[in-house]
Order: sequence, then C-alpha cells, then structure tokens
Amino acid sequence: MPIPFIDLKAQLAVLEPEIRRRMDAVLAHGKFIMGPEVAELETDLAAFAGARHAVTCASGTDALLMPLLAWGIGPGDAVFTTPFTFIATAEVIALLGATPVFVDIDPRTYNIDPARLELAVAAVAAQDPTLHPLPMTAMTHKLKPKAVIPVDLFGLPADYDALGAVAREHGLLVLEDAAQGFGGVYKGKKAGALGAAGATSFFPAKPLGCFGDGGAVFTDDDALADVLRSIRVHGKGGHKYDNVRVGLNCRLDTLQAAVLLAKLPAFPGELDARDAVAARYGAGLAGLPGVTLPVVPEGCRCAWAQYTLSLAGHDRDAVAAALREAGVPSMVYYPKPLHTQTAFAGLGHAPEDFPESLAASARVLSLPMHPYLAADVQDVVIGAVGKALQG
Ligand SMILES: *Cc1c(COP(=O)(O)O)cnc(C)c1O
Repeated sequence: MPIPFIDLKAQLAVLEPEIRRRMDAVLAHGKFIMGPEVAELETDLAAFAGARHAVTCASGTDALLMPLLAWGIGPGDAVFTTPFTFIATAEVIALLGATPVFVDIDPRTYNIDPARLELAVAAVAAQDPTLHPLPMTAMTHKLKPKAVIPVDLFGLPADYDALGAVAREHGLLVLEDAAQGFGGVYKGKKAGALGAAGATSFFPAKPLGCFGDGGAVFTDDDALADVLRSIRVHGKGGHKYDNVRVGLNCRLDTLQAAVLLAKLPAFPGELDARDAVAARYGAGLAGLPGVTLPVVPEGCRCAWAQYTLSLAGHDRDAVAAALREAGVPSMVYYPKPLHTQTAFAGLGHAPEDFPESLAASARVLSLPMHPYLAADVQDVVIGAVGKALQG
C-alpha cells in the first residue's frame, strides 16, 4: 500500500460514527444554511481558541478577506505580508485594490521577519526602496500602512510579540493567517487569537479540516464580529433583505459545521499525535548532513500542518525523486514565492528582492505528516530520507 502524504481515511475510520450521526441530524432537520450546528460550532471554536468570537465562513480565503473588508482596506493602502506563503494570503489584499508589500522571512522559522517589517514600513513612508524593496505602486503613490498579515507557516505561530510592537508603533492592524496554524500556541495564547483578527481554514488537508471548503475568523472585538456576520450574508442589516453594506455570500454550510463538531473533540489528541510524529522525525533525522530540521522556538507549539526539511546541501528535486521511487510521497510548499508569481508581476519585484524566501523555495521538502502516521511507517520514511540523501 502506498504511504499517503495526509491520511484522511485513517481519521475517518476512527471518527466515522460520530461524523455520520452529526451529518444525519442535519439531513433530518434540513436547515442546510445557518442551521443550529453553525452557532454550536462557533461557540466551541471560540472556546477552543480563547477568543470572544468565532465567525465561520466558506473558506480560509474568505476568512482573510472579511476582516480586511470590514476594516475598509482598499486602494492606497499598504498591507504587509510574507511572500513565502500560499497565494490566498496576498490575493485578498490585491482583490480589495490595496497593495501587498512583501517582507522577507526569518529563515529559521519561515515566518515574516519583524525587523524587516520595521524597515518595510519606513520604506513605504519615505517612498525609499533603498531601505527595503518596494512594489512599484509604493513609488508612484504614497501608500498608507494599514495592516500586516503574519502567516503561521507549516503550523508554527509567527513572532507576535515582536510583530505586535512594530504594529503598535505604526498603527497597523494585525490579521493572523492561521490557516495552517490552528491548534498551535504562542506564549500561552492559541493560534487564531494572536492578532486583532485571526483567520483559519477548514480545507480537508489542514490540521482541522472538514469535507469541503470552510473557514473561520476569530476576534475579541465585538463590533468587528458584528460586521463580519453581516458581511458573510451580503452585508445584511436587521434582516436578509436589509442590506447596509456591500458584502459576500460566504457562509459555512451546516453539513460542514456538523463534520467539524464531530472532529473538534478529537483535535487536541490529534495535536498530541502530531507532536509525537514530529518528535520521531526529529530523532530519526537528526544529524543528517545538509539537512535543517524544523525548529519550534521556546514558548511555541506547532500544529504541524507540515513537517518541512530544508535541504541546503542537496539537489532537492533529486531527493524527492528518490523518495518517490521508494514509495514515499513528499511535497514542495512553496516552489515559487509570491513576488515571483505571474499574478503579482505588476508589483515589479525581482526574484532577489526577498532572498530568504527565494532560497527557502528552492530548498524545502515536506514529508508525510498526519496524526495517524504509524511509527513503523514513519520509520520507513526516515530510512528512505537517509538513503535518498546519499544518492
Ligand atoms: C490554505 C491556506 C489559505 C486558504 O485557505 P482556503 O480554505 O483554501 O481558502 C490561506 N493561507 C494559508 C497560509 C493557507 O495555507
């Protein structure tokens, strides 16, 4: 049997009776849109994350878009984020007509570098690209620094203390992209609750996934939560046909809420299992030449959305091919940093503008990671990595 990269069937085998019971309840009551499971899930999610509000929505992308829309972000605004992430993080900025201002990563954690954020804010204010690489728009227009979207890449929370200090100094709103980070912890606070708002995704392959698309926004801000609830139903006011703002149609389906209600109680145990898998990889792969293992800084817990090696001293694609040959799947997240994507060609960046992101994209390789990865299967992966590196 081939080794799966993420084994959703193994999870289903454990949770199927409860998932079916929850889904059957929805079929019986028939409230497929905003049924009672949605509110129940939001209560449980908010309690899990330690946030006052969880507002569910149709995807992680919508969960990023909604707070930016609620904050009125648009043309003339600069929103800072990392180029070493999934396209959705920066896409929502551009969709609203604002300008993504990329800030390179800390190569140790793959997360946005707070010191470089400080430089980027100064560069935007001075319209001076010698301080920090800037998008073309920042040269032709004096952009207003409005927000920063740190990403909890591969499940590891970004450095929110240092980011928060820069954000407070410059009046930036912090929108946490916790699409991969949900389940993680930063200094006692849960991922999702680390900014003015936090966005997560319930895409099936994320640490907590449903059976389709889904997402949620977390916030302690009562007024923001009200606006988010309005935005997700076409900007509704007192009722559905009273429209007080331009919004979206981005509700979480009741059936997906039912799936998540069945999965959420198992999630803490799954996070422990992910930690155990990461620890076994760490022990089994330690000391391999030219391989850097993922680090989890003091005070952090990683949700291990991915277990990602950096192969500085090797031909990454040859290693991936040797693994494939041995029946071990691997993935490259992400082969192209966003500032080199055609979709963002208009920003006018050179590949070398963000050297750490560029280097990471050439070196990273993610191994199979999920809570149901058996120790003996993991040992096959570890053995195959050791062999592939010699080849
Ligand atoms: C998956 C992901 C998203 C988008 O989530 P969807 O539910 O697929 O829309 C956003 N940001 C990051 C970092 C992601 O990994």
